[in-house]
Amino acid sequence: MMGVGKGLKLAAGFILICGAVGGCADQKKGMDRFSKPIFATKPRPRNRVIPTPAPPPVQHYAQRPVPRPAPRPLQRPQTVVAEPGWIPPGGIKNRWREIVLHHSATAKGGAVAFDHEHRNVRKWDELGYHFVIGNGTDTYDGKIEVGSRWTKQKTGAHCKTGDNFYNEHGIGICLVGNFQNTSPTSAQMASVDKLVLFLSQQCGLSAANIKSHGGVTHKTDCPGRRFPLSTVKRNLSLAQSKMQTDMLATANVGR
Ligand SMILES: [Zn+2]
Repeated sequence: MMGVGKGLKLAAGFILICGAVGGCADQKKGMDRFSKPIFATKPRPRNRVIPTPAPPPVQHYAQRPVPRPAPRPLQRPQTVVAEPGWIPPGGIKNRWREIVLHHSATAKGGAVAFDHEHRNVRKWDELGYHFVIGNGTDTYDGKIEVGSRWTKQKTGAHCKTGDNFYNEHGIGICLVGNFQNTSPTSAQMASVDKLVLFLSQQCGLSAANIKSHGGVTHKTDCPGRRFPLSTVKRNLSLAQSKMQTDMLATANVGR
């Protein structure tokens, strides 16, 4: 037989077990309620790992390519190249202010023949001109001969005036031929243009300083009515303008 005390203990134990079981059921319901998301949110994506680009290779400063400007074409102003004897051993004196042009008034000739005449006929010390330009007779057509006066930078004997200014300060150039009758050859004109440009650049002269013998003295037709003095002056101006333009262009290249 089971005592009353023992019966009460069993009943209490049964109640405790049932309470516990019931409690578990209610608690489960509550857990289900809180386990559901309150807000309809999408599952948060996992943080993606963005790959970091690889750093550029370390490069020493000195190894970096240095941008260099493209090479410019070499430009030089056009200049007249001096032929042998054009620049005397002692240099060109700062005494020449004019260039006086002549013809020989002969069909043929050259520096040697004229030097002989000037010494022996006119009784001068030597050839009176500073330069002679041949016409293909004694020398080849367009040949520029340098007189001994130019080599010595000596006063000329080609253009006498009252004050002798054009002998003292004028460079005498004689073209072989009689240009009252014929015109100078194209080779002679090319040579006189070249020589006049060279001398003008060396002595600081311009077209205004290019004179004819007769234009200075008004006592002779030299260098003849068929000698194109205006062409020589114009060609000098054009050549000097071009040289000036070339020099400015060259100077601007460096800026
Ligand atoms: Zn003359």
